[in-house]
Amino acid sequence: MIPVNEPLIAKNTLSYVSDCIQTGWISSAGSYIQRFEKEFAAYLHVKHAVTTTSGTTALHLALASLGIGPGQEVIIPALTMIAVPYAVLYTGARPAIIDVDRETFNIDPGKIIEFVKKSCRFDHRRKILVNKKTKNIVRAILPVHLYGHPCPMDRIMAVAEEYSLLVVEDAAEAHGALFYPDADRKKARFAGAMGDVGCFSFYANKIVTTGEGGMVVTNDDAVAERARRLKDLAHAPQRRFLHTELAFNYRMTNVQAAIGVAQLEEIEKSIALKQKMAAAYHKWLADVRGLTLPCEKPWARNVYWMYAVLVEKEFGLDRDELMRRLREEGVDTRTFFVPVHQQPVFANDKESQEASFPVAEELSRFGLYLPSGLALTEAQIQAVCQAIKKISASLPGI
Ligand SMILES: *Cc1c(COP(=O)(O)O)cnc(C)c1O
Repeated sequence: MIPVNEPLIAKNTLSYVSDCIQTGWISSAGSYIQRFEKEFAAYLHVKHAVTTTSGTTALHLALASLGIGPGQEVIIPALTMIAVPYAVLYTGARPAIIDVDRETFNIDPGKIIEFVKKSCRFDHRRKILVNKKTKNIVRAILPVHLYGHPCPMDRIMAVAEEYSLLVVEDAAEAHGALFYPDADRKKARFAGAMGDVGCFSFYANKIVTTGEGGMVVTNDDAVAERARRLKDLAHAPQRRFLHTELAFNYRMTNVQAAIGVAQLEEIEKSIALKQKMAAAYHKWLADVRGLTLPCEKPWARNVYWMYAVLVEKEFGLDRDELMRRLREEGVDTRTFFVPVHQQPVFANDKESQEASFPVAEELSRFGLYLPSGLALTEAQIQAVCQAIKKISASLPGI
């Protein structure tokens, strides 16, 4: 079976990890933590990077550090990983769901504006946006750079600016993805480094992994300091073991950070591998009827975390049946996420349950991703494409 993901262990991993073991620095104090944070921040050109235990806890920590809580809302895309609405709910805030763009799969800025104009009122004096139905204050936009393609951050930042909203980017699937603000592509901004705060995951299938782990990045000194306090139980500055506010233990271990440092050394190599994989898939799948291939907008560097395709009606088989037949051919695939409003865990939010997000629903029905791991070989990609072409050729034309 060709697996959907197989990680590549970076060259220096064993030596850095051995160093932790041999010196006894296996917990959350230790030099690799500082080194990983410093080098990750330098890579993204941001001032601060704060390690956490996962992408999920990075999102929670980011929102908590910005003071997001009950009576507030965070705008999120309808198609995303469940950790995104979870993190909002952990703070006591409510996720306000917005439909996505069919080409990039990412939150649609036009639909954010539509939501703000139709469902909210802006209090100019207090500079707050209020959801007219729920009466909550809308505090932030949480764009997710899905499957490696960045969101149109210029448009999202403009909406945020106009309505005094914070921006928390989820770049868990987009390490190294770039947004080019100008047509000449001279200036580039990293996914995760454009909003007020950016969040990353280092789960085993992500572009940079520490096994499990996450990172919060920001240019804001106060937010970074607050994130450092909250992730470590918020000991009072004047006295250790005195706690004046509710906090968490989201500390990464030095061993994980050591793996991260080794991985980060090879990030551009990993991205180049992802792009080479995408180019090979593009080449061999371009002429398959009814298969929509992932895009790369002229203003973007897509890092193709996963090679995500849509099985349109013209293909002649539905998505699930294609997945089943590919499995018979020895090819493992995964479906897209289930839209947030259709998640049973979210059933008590009437407002969202009654809404419809047609693009997210369609993508969730048609979307699957092909084997995309860093260890994938050219021959395996060719085998995947041959299997798809064989299935496609066996179908009657429409
Ligand atoms: C993986 C992922 C997360 C969560 O990261 P974990 O490290 O698994 O907790 C959050 N958001 C997105 C978009 C992800 O893909």
